[in-house]
Amino acid sequence: MTRPDLVIRSRQAVLPDGTRPAAVVIAGPSIVAVEEYSVAADAVSEVDLGDLALLPGLVDTHVHVNEPGRTGWEGFATATRAAAAGGVTTICDMPLNSLPPTVSVAALAEKRAAAAGQCWVDVAFWGGAVPGNTGSLAALHEAGVVGFKCFLLDSGVPEFPPLDEAELRSAMSVLAGLDATLIVHAEDGAEISSASGRDFGAFVASRPPKAERRAIEKVIRAASATRARAHIVHLSAAECAAMIAGAKGAGIRLSAETCPHYLFFAAEQVPEGATEYKCCPPIRDAINREALWRALEAGVIDCVVSDHSPCLPALKEPETGDFGAAWGGIASLQLGLPAVWTVARRRGRSLDDVIRWMASGPASLASLPAKGQIAVGGDADLVAFDPDASWEVEAAQLFQRHPVTPYLGQKLTGSVRQVWLRGKEISADGEPLGRLLSRGDSAQ
Ligand SMILES: [Zn+2]
Repeated sequence: MTRPDLVIRSRQAVLPDGTRPAAVVIAGPSIVAVEEYSVAADAVSEVDLGDLALLPGLVDTHVHVNEPGRTGWEGFATATRAAAAGGVTTICDMPLNSLPPTVSVAALAEKRAAAAGQCWVDVAFWGGAVPGNTGSLAALHEAGVVGFKCFLLDSGVPEFPPLDEAELRSAMSVLAGLDATLIVHAEDGAEISSASGRDFGAFVASRPPKAERRAIEKVIRAASATRARAHIVHLSAAECAAMIAGAKGAGIRLSAETCPHYLFFAAEQVPEGATEYKCCPPIRDAINREALWRALEAGVIDCVVSDHSPCLPALKEPETGDFGAAWGGIASLQLGLPAVWTVARRRGRSLDDVIRWMASGPASLASLPAKGQIAVGGDADLVAFDPDASWEVEAAQLFQRHPVTPYLGQKLTGSVRQVWLRGKEISADGEPLGRLLSRGDSAQ
């Protein structure tokens, strides 16, 4: 073996088979060995993290970067810096809110051109499934998207319309043939009423659990009929967990994610007019939150990813404080790990659990085999994490384009200390080292 470039030692290395003291040996961009903590390794450089935990870099499969087209809302440079600061070394960009939406190979090329050279972490791309683009799905798949996203109700932007049930089935039939995953925003518009005003409770009541249930039923029916692989994004209504568990048990290829805000906040605590808490589906009450945690702990929910979806501050926080008028989306790419760890730790969960939910689970969803775990042959994407540090979120710490988030002022436990991307430390005064990934990329 040639001389390794780097050895990182930690007494709490979070490995696929558990947390233990270990030395991770790196050559070029890859992990080449995982050894005993005190192994002699003649590496070019060495880092001993002592009691700091060593995590695989997180994989966040649900990020709206919005560039090109709505770069004033967020962009590749700001989003990927926020990701790096939060211990996220791979993001998968959503196909909507940017212009054009990623619904054709030409649009994917525009997106990749916009991202090139300004990414601080690795970036992969979802394609979109919209009415009329069934014929483009195979070519987008071939071009390397990690899967496809669709909506079952108005997406909030006119250029990314929803699929009806027949269109859902025909898209899923094509995707089953490609063995590609369809990820679905599962709310049923027929169960949603309009809401306005400053009362968060009224907004939550306008989007009841039944709206999620009805939509997930459609997805399960379509997945069962087509044998395609489907994934429910941002599950909020915990009552749907039983249905998802049942479908999984019946051999339907279904998975689900939830988001840090559904696990951290509860509707009861949202102040009047505090539109920074608005997202769809909504943050529900504390009882629902507890049930969501249990579904996650039971393995019914597979991943926790951010659904980072910022916009212009004036759209997010209209002066009226009107929940009907505000943009729905919560920006938390930099904060997901400590937000989830803060609660997980209180519940007696381990970093192994958090890494399964936030790194290896999402990497598997997006078919990125080199990512999400500390394993020989994988990319050396690593995070030094202090699981005991507590701190308060301040706007000045945030790298996202606009520091609007409901986490401001929250006390969190766990702090990211150092991050390596493919063996190189990400440094604020360095260069952006992120690559644009394609589905199935192995370590390079
Ligand atoms: Zn989203």
